[in-house]
Amino acid sequence: MLNLVLFGAPGSGKGTQSEKIIDKYGLHHISTGEVLRKQIKEGTELGKIADSYISKGHLIPDDLMIDILRQELKSLPKESKGVIFDGFPRTIPQAVELEKLLSENGESLTGVVGLEVPEEELVARMLKRGAETGRADDNMETILNRLKVYHNQTEPLKEHYQGKGSYIQIDGLGHVDNIFSSIAKAIDEKKK
Ligand code: AMP
Repeated sequence: MLNLVLFGAPGSGKGTQSEKIIDKYGLHHISTGEVLRKQIKEGTELGKIADSYISKGHLIPDDLMIDILRQELKSLPKESKGVIFDGFPRTIPQAVELEKLLSENGESLTGVVGLEVPEEELVARMLKRGAETGRADDNMETILNRLKVYHNQTEPLKEHYQGKGSYIQIDGLGHVDNIFSSIAKAIDEKKK
């Protein structure tokens, strides 16, 4: 199976590139942000808890997030060719848990695709998305918090994965299709 983490700051293009990767490689998509937004929309208890963190740009606590991921993995289709993890892990404990969960199922992580985009561009993209889609956490105040949280809690994962030799650095600036070509080339290399 092909199990990939799509890694990058908020606004780096994880959602957009996930769709393209799914189309080409037939992977199952797990976007923890989407799972949480669905719960908020449906007004569930989990949604209410999630909203109190997301609206401030904070991360959902690891224990809760790991439970959610475990559930998502349980509902994987049996004939799955693999999974693309979009927005998970975001902390070292989440990364450790993901490795554990995969190995319990006789699986492992094929690679971590890291989309690298300069900060001004990230802010511009999120403001544009907020204006176009009305996504609630794409406002200036929350965006700045999300970036701070990214640098403090999520960016250290890059070194974690570099140490394991699984981090694939991708220039996330430019045309969507060109970025996707670089990703596909890197995935095909990893698959060999
Ligand atoms: P995303 O759609 O991936 O940008 O996620 C939107 C928001 O959902 C984040 O800013 C976090 O508040 C929350 N979230 C999504 N994934 C995670 C995760 N793996 N750990 C903690 N919080 C998360």
